[in-house]
Amino acid sequence: MNRSAISLLTLLLALPVVGHTDLRLYVFDCGIIDMQDISSFSLSNDESPVRQLFVPCYLVEHDDQQMIWDAGLPNAIAGQGTIDQGGGMSMSLDTSLIEQLETLELSAADIDLVAFSHMHFDHVGAANLFTNARLLIQDTEYAAAFEEPDNPYFQPDLYMGLKDNEREILSGDYDVFGDGSVTIVSAPGHTPGHQVLLLQLENSGPLVLSGDLYHFAESRALRRAPEFNFDAEQTFSSMDKVEALIKAEGAILWIEHEKALADTLNMAPAFYD
Ligand SMILES: [Zn+2]
Repeated sequence: MNRSAISLLTLLLALPVVGHTDLRLYVFDCGIIDMQDISSFSLSNDESPVRQLFVPCYLVEHDDQQMIWDAGLPNAIAGQGTIDQGGGMSMSLDTSLIEQLETLELSAADIDLVAFSHMHFDHVGAANLFTNARLLIQDTEYAAAFEEPDNPYFQPDLYMGLKDNEREILSGDYDVFGDGSVTIVSAPGHTPGHQVLLLQLENSGPLVLSGDLYHFAESRALRRAPEFNFDAEQTFSSMDKVEALIKAEGAILWIEHEKALADTLNMAPAFYD
C-alpha cells in the first residue's frame, strides 16, 4: 500500500461509527442592549446591578444539518455603533451574523433549519436571510407573528421574508432530528409561542437555552415575569415545566441574555459538543 492509501485508511478508521451523532453548538455575539431602568422586567433597580443584556445567536450542527437558534439584533445596525432606542435604551451589534457564519465557511443558504425562541426583534434580527431553511415555530407564535402582529416587540419587517418558507408548525415539544439530541420545548408566556431548546451534548452534557424565559439571573432566583410578557400565569407554568426538565435531565441552563454568563463562554469558531 502506498503512503496516500495508508493515510486514507487511517482517516476512514478515525471516522465515527455509523449511528454516532456529531452534535455541536456554536455561540455568536449578536449584540448588546443597554438600559437605564430594568423595572419593566419586574425587578427593582436595587434587585440587580445589571443594565446590559447580551444578545446571542446560536448554530446547532447535527451531522451535516445546520440549524440556527435565535438570530440576534437587526442586521441593519451591524457596525453602526450605538443606536439610541429612546426610553433609556440603546443597542449595538459589532458584526453581522452572516459575517460570523462566514468564519465557519457557512453562508445563509447552507442553513437547513431555523427556529427562534420567540419572534421579538432581538431574536430575529437576521431571520430574513434564511429563506432556504425550514422554519420550526409553534402554532400560537406563528399566528401572533405572521397573522396578527400587533405586539410592539414584534417587528414584522425583520422576519416577513420567512413567510413562504417551508415550515413545521408545532403544538408543543418537538424532537428536531428524531434522535432525542435536540428538543424544542414549548414554554409559552413571554410570547404566545415562546420555546426553549434542550441539547444533549456528549461532552458538555445536557444544556437548556432559555430563550427569554428569564432575562437576568435574578429573574430566575426571584421568579419574576416581565411586565410586558404576553401572559404571566403561563410564564410561571413554563418556569415550573422547564425547571422540572432541568432537574430531570441534570441539565445546565444558559440564560441567553445574561452578560456575565456570556463573558465566560467560548464564542465561535470555538464550539460546545
Ligand atoms: Zn430577548
